[in-house]
Amino acid sequence: MPLIARRMSHLGTENAFKLGDDIQQCVDRGMDVIRFNLGAPDFRSAPHLNRVATEALDAGRSGYCDPAGILPFRQAIADHVGRTRGVDVTPERVVVTPGAKPPIGYTLQTYVDEGDEVIYPSPGFPIYESWVRFVGAVPVPLPLSADRNFAFTADDLAALVTERTKLIILCSPSNPTGGVLSRDELAGIAELVRDRCRPDARVYSDEIYEQILFDGLEHESIVSHPGMSGRTVLASGHSKGFAMTGWRLGWAVLPTEEEAAIFKRININIMSCVPPFLQEAGAAAYEDPASAVEVRTMVAAFERRRDWIVPALNEIPGVRCRTPKGAFYVFPDVSGVCERLGVFKACEKIHKSARDRTTPAGMLQMFLLYRYGVASMDRASFGRIGAEGQHFLRLSIANGMDDIRRGVGRIEAAAEDTRGFAEFVRSDDGRALFG
Ligand code: PLP
Repeated sequence: MPLIARRMSHLGTENAFKLGDDIQQCVDRGMDVIRFNLGAPDFRSAPHLNRVATEALDAGRSGYCDPAGILPFRQAIADHVGRTRGVDVTPERVVVTPGAKPPIGYTLQTYVDEGDEVIYPSPGFPIYESWVRFVGAVPVPLPLSADRNFAFTADDLAALVTERTKLIILCSPSNPTGGVLSRDELAGIAELVRDRCRPDARVYSDEIYEQILFDGLEHESIVSHPGMSGRTVLASGHSKGFAMTGWRLGWAVLPTEEEAAIFKRININIMSCVPPFLQEAGAAAYEDPASAVEVRTMVAAFERRRDWIVPALNEIPGVRCRTPKGAFYVFPDVSGVCERLGVFKACEKIHKSARDRTTPAGMLQMFLLYRYGVASMDRASFGRIGAEGQHFLRLSIANGMDDIRRGVGRIEAAAEDTRGFAEFVRSDDGRALFG
């Protein structure tokens, strides 16, 4: 009988958190590390929202509350969804969760049995693939390619839909690509789901970056299309748009009250409730007009940084970077740099067990971190299945302009440092990582 239950071997991880140990090692050596790896805004939560939470605490609202979420917050979420997506939602269909990550696992546990097929974007948020495997479902990655600006159409999806498709995961704006699905693209996907999927199949629409859109784009959601509100689990929250990652405020709107009751039951089984004083601030985020000003300021900063970094990266020989339309990441193709530095050859030479754990982009990622103090995320961190032959890094622009400039300068220097890369692979660091 094994100590650890067998199912745990299927649970994946989010490397953005795992990389923390490597970064710490570099910091302990006195390196100054630029953290392009982080998926967290470099802005603080707004003072008017902090005040709501502390006042609620001072007033003693610090006990357990409704496991589905306090009614005023669920009502505020329902109103927000009604206003922004044009659909009627009752608070009984809303469940508050500690962040927008839990509804991913809740959805997989609620709807998906072993052997069911789940379609999810790749590259995509790694937690999708992690949960698909954990519940024993069949992973069906939907490949997003840079040549098509990381967009896909209903036809691409149609090629993957079968009788066994139980769940289709969408994420727009997307982490890590910054791609955004248009109203027309969503209309096509909605039509496909209505026509080709079983009525008990569900869409999971991850809209955590809903506020972070560039070039004047407005957020579009699949739930706005006919029949889709009754088939979609819509999830979002406060981490990104309101710069509240540590508050752990997220939510899901379920197709029916019965399905919402299951999410509530999972909350009861795992964490009872999200702290009520945080939820009061969560409601204020939607209701206080001061929030919109904060969001606009932050998104404008992300857009300015995007407009600087994309051309700057494209000037580095061997880097090709598309212009993201939303979220706060750039996702450059670094194959040319891997070629120049000899990363592909070095990757072929490392032991097979190490090769199974890394990729050429992963080796470049570690070289950038350990030798140039630039933390980034490699392509394989966003879904391993089908990632072969793709050589990308994700850089977060949730960093001040000075750090972004310094970071790109370091990447430029690293991209020419063939000798440095060879030395790195042979060094103690290289052996510890790839030996
Ligand atoms: N979904 C996507 C696409 C994300 O990028 C993230 C965070 O990085 C989450 C969900 C989780 O958000 P939260 O921090 O609110 O749990």
